[in-house]
Amino acid sequence: MPDYDGQNIFAKILRGEIPSVKVYEDAETYCFMDIMPRADGHCLVIPKTPCRNMLDATPAQLSACMATVNKVANACVTGFAADGITLQQFNEAAGGQEVFHLHFHILPRHEGVSLRA
Ligand code: ADP
Repeated sequence: MPDYDGQNIFAKILRGEIPSVKVYEDAETYCFMDIMPRADGHCLVIPKTPCRNMLDATPAQLSACMATVNKVANACVTGFAADGITLQQFNEAAGGQEVFHLHFHILPRHEGVSLRA
């Protein structure tokens, strides 16, 4: 697997080099709105430390991300009156990953409403 590339777009967001819309932040994780939302409230949770994807993630990074996913997903249920949440995560190009910094998609869902393309 290739090494982590610090020039990926989410690393630039973490360094404040490009803008993002913050949803939540703590010492270990950052959550921000997806720029091309496939559902209202579609946001991304990332670790603040370098990590290419789930395959090179440490247990601490995964644990911190999941704690944030839990908080934000519950906030989405309340804030968007969501009926459910889809949690999506891709690893390597063959697995559908396009940005090579570990991230989890939080997609609020409503009964009978499909995700946008
Ligand atoms: P996919 O594009 O197949 O969902 P990823 O899981 O790698 O693959 O997702 C990258 C996500 O990052 C996409 O949903 C895309 O809309 C989002 N994205 C790309 N650039 C930005 C940005 N500058 N700010 C917020 N989200 C971004």
